[in-house]
Amino acid sequence: MDDRQYRTAMGKFATGVTVIATDVDGDVHGMTANAFMSVSLDPKLVVISIGEKARILEKIKQSKTFSVNILAADQQELSMIFAGQLKEHREVIFDRLDGKPVLAGAVAQIACEVSAEHLEGDHTLFIGRVTDIQLEDAEPLIFYSGRYRSLTEEEAVTLK
Ligand code: FAD
Repeated sequence: MDDRQYRTAMGKFATGVTVIATDVDGDVHGMTANAFMSVSLDPKLVVISIGEKARILEKIKQSKTFSVNILAADQQELSMIFAGQLKEHREVIFDRLDGKPVLAGAVAQIACEVSAEHLEGDHTLFIGRVTDIQLEDAEPLIFYSGRYRSLTEEEAVTLK
């Protein structure tokens, strides 16, 4: 099995798209990520996975806090900005939720404090204790097989 086959297989798992954001001394840094899931309901815990080369890694270690912003269908440009896919720098304004930087218009803004970190291979898993949540009534952005997509609603089929 080579790296390409592995990446292709993992890309077959359709996900939403998030921007992880953190703040060190008032300097906000964001990064696009889809390696995110809920871990526990009681206590409320989530996990994110950050690559060893990502600049945000040291920043989260320092701040011990982060937010997860689940992007809406009309926020593909934000995903591209925070994945470094746009050449020119864009100014992005962040709101605050429980003191953490968050993106307005996201389907969900989730404020977290780091409760544990685990180095696994070339990524670090951060377990976040959820301290606050803000929800927006909007459709999510989808990522599948290396491409951005949107949800389409199929009509329910009644089987006789
Ligand atoms: P940088 O390369 O330093 O920053 C990324 C971009 O964000 C830069 O262009 C920077 O200018 C911009 N930026 C940062 N902060 C601000 C700000 N305050 N205002 C304006 N612009 C700002 N990588 C992972 O490790 N884990 C994942 O789960 C993951 N999932 C991904 C999912 C998708 C759909 C995509 C497209 C990429 C994913 N990546 C993931 C890759 C990751 O997003 C990129 O490798 C990213 O560029 C690395 O981030 P960095 O911290 O090194 O940030």
